[in-house]
Formats: sequence, C-alpha cells, structure tokens
Amino acid sequence: MIVIENCAVATVDAARTEYSVGHVVIGDDGRITAVGAGRADAVDRSARLVDGTGCLATPGLVNAHHHLYQWVTRGLAQQSNLFGWLTTLYPVWAGLDAEMVNAAAAAGLGWLALSGCTTSTDHHYVFPPGGDDPLAAEIEAARLVGLRFQPCRGSMDLGRSAGGLPPDSLVERTEAALLATETAIDRYHDPSPGSMLRISVAPCSPFSVTSTLMRESAALARRRGVRLHTHLAETAEEEQYCRATHGCTPVEYAEQLGWLGDDVWLAHGVHLDDPALDRLAATGTAVAHCPSSNARLGAGTARVPELLAAGVPVGLGVDGAASQEAGQLGAELRQALYAARLRGGPAALTARQALALGTVGGAECLGRADEIGSLEVGKLADVALWRLDGLGHAGIDDPVAALVLGPPAPLALLLVGGRTVVEHAELRTADAEILAGQAARAHRRLLALAD
Ligand SMILES: [Zn+2]
Repeated sequence: MIVIENCAVATVDAARTEYSVGHVVIGDDGRITAVGAGRADAVDRSARLVDGTGCLATPGLVNAHHHLYQWVTRGLAQQSNLFGWLTTLYPVWAGLDAEMVNAAAAAGLGWLALSGCTTSTDHHYVFPPGGDDPLAAEIEAARLVGLRFQPCRGSMDLGRSAGGLPPDSLVERTEAALLATETAIDRYHDPSPGSMLRISVAPCSPFSVTSTLMRESAALARRRGVRLHTHLAETAEEEQYCRATHGCTPVEYAEQLGWLGDDVWLAHGVHLDDPALDRLAATGTAVAHCPSSNARLGAGTARVPELLAAGVPVGLGVDGAASQEAGQLGAELRQALYAARLRGGPAALTARQALALGTVGGAECLGRADEIGSLEVGKLADVALWRLDGLGHAGIDDPVAALVLGPPAPLALLLVGGRTVVEHAELRTADAEILAGQAARAHRRLLALAD
C-alpha cells in the first residue's frame, strides 16, 4: 500500500473534482483504493507514506502520438515544412537498425517519464527491408523504463514511383505490411485489464499509403479488436495532395476508407473544415493534438476548442522528436493552451481543459479511459506528484494553473501501476546518463551511415 497525503489533488474525473488538501491511496494490486479530501482513513502499518506537502497529484499524463525512433535524428531540417522535412529525413531513417531504435526509444520514454507521462503510444512506420524487428526493440525499451505502452505497427506501401512521398526503398509490399502487422498483434498485444502493452494498427499517412492498405488495415484491426491510428489533416500540402489525387478532403477520404469511428484516433487534425469536424464528432473519432510539432513545422493550429465543443475526444501528443526536439509531455499542456489562445483569445482554453487533454483525453484516444486518465477508485495507479513549492512555482495559489502556466514542474514521484518510475525528479528504473550516451552514439552511427 502507498499513501500520498497533504497534497492538492486534481482527479480529472467526470465532475473534475479537486481537493486543495487531499490524499490518494494505492493498493498492492497497483490500483487506486481511495481518493479524497484531508488525510487518508485507515492506513496499513506497512504502508509506504508519501508526504505530498507542496505538491499536486494528477493522473499520469498520456501521450497520444509519438515516433520514438526520431530521438536519434533530432535537430535536422530545421527550417522545413512537413514534406521537405520528410524528404530530408527518409534517407537517414533508411539506416535505422534495432539497436538504434532501442536507444532512441529508451531515451525518449525516459524523458517522457520525467515530464509526467505514464502511458505512451508510439507510431513506428520505418521498416527497412531485411532489417531486424524495431517494434521488439522499442517494446524492450518501454519495459526497461517502466511506462505503460501502446505502440502502433505502422506501415508505408506507396513509394515515390507510384506517386507517394517516401523513396521506394523504404516502403513495404502491401501484403507484407499486413502480415507483419497481424504478427505484431499475435506476438505482443495484451488485451487483459491493467495491460502494460497493447498494439494498434497504423498505416502512416495519405501520401505514403495506398487506399488498399488503409482499407485492409481497418478490416484487420476490427477483426482483431485493436485500435486504429494514422496521421490526417496535418498540413495544407496534404489537403492539396488529397484533393488532387482523390478529389476530396483528407477526412472525406478517411471516411470512404472506413477510417472514421470510435476505434480510430487521428494525429494532428489541423486542417478541418466544419463538415469534417462534424463527421469526427458524429463518428466518435478522436484526435491527438500535437501543438509543438505543428508549430515547429509551421503546419498550422488545430481547432481544439471547436473540436471539444463538438464532443470530439482530444488528447495530446508530443509527436516525433525530430519535429519536436523538446519531447516533454508536461510542457505540451501549456503549449496547447497557448496555441488555442493565439487562435481564439484568452478564454479559448483553460488550464483545466489543458490538463484534461493530457490525461483523460489521451486515455480516450488510446481506448483506455476505463482504466487510466483520472484518479478514481478502481483505476490503475498511474499518478504524477508534481512539486510546486520550488523557485519556479512557489506563490501561485492555484496548483493547476502553476502546473500548466508555470515552467515544467519537477516530479516528486511518478507511479505506473503503483511502481515508482521517477522520484525526486530522477528516473529510478534506468540511468538517465547511460540512456543519453546510448542515444548520442546511435545518432552518430546513423548519421555516419547517411553520409
Ligand atoms: Zn507524427
């Protein structure tokens, strides 16, 4: 049993219940057994007591979009838009091997943990022919760092010679991609309650995937009861591509392919007109909002307040580290608020709405809102305890405002299923310096191959 007391608590439950001084109690099964005001009632004598004075307890953050392998290709194509950035990076990514992916994923996940993330997805779509299994490599990294993980088996089968953006050498054959995706589900997907590892199906984007692979992927995911993910409506150039190639908008294209539904979450959703927004709402399709990546690539600003008003589930994603070098999910709370307010004024998004995007919104994207995303009795004990009494935050009366509007807050504690992953702002499951060294070495090795 773990008892966290004397802290502010933002539960992010349906009523958005908060306690200015409260407690969270965690049972030995890794689930929450009590949340409330004041001190905890009956405390087991063997319980681990955590004094949360000066801290805010929130649900652990849920990262709804990422490409962890990109951790070893950060800082490149600094002034490019999406298509230029991809065209620069595809040849570099062609040299990726499993050891590089493992180093990148361990670094990226360790860094995510230090910013309050307890569950992350990943979207891996680069499978150089004849290479080893990058999905296994990143799963091993997630086990090391100790985060709950929902990697997507991505895919690309539309090379440049067929009108796509990626080089032909980097795409798979359609049938091979589908077979490998089903194999990944067989090998890794754990649908059981409290699962630490679930697989989703994720062909990459309209300009790198054939409509056949999109349709067949949707059929495969629904046959196997797993979720669907892809990039959609990220840039104006993508919309032009869809109109020129398919004669419709990206959302209309997705709907034709069976890609709208409550088992689908889309990365970005920046360029959405009102009819598109209505279709997402009507079908229960979720959106992973990636405000820093959209800013880095100059892609535009998603209509998050309108999406929320329409009832679309919206989560937050850091997106791949090559288009968002900071890679911190905690910082995306503020970025999401800033982006919404730059478009819609000071009331466009509140600090509490931003926190909900990063917690329960992400859980909805990943189809796990029944188990994670809020602090409630019976839910998994994925808890972030943020220290708000230091130089960066002391004196801000509202702890949620301090967390969202203030600088990135250090973590007093980060629990995943009751297991300590971060304590006193340090990673406990792995050595951060070793992870940094391995990522730097992998980066050098990859860049040398690309020369
Ligand atoms: Zn992405």
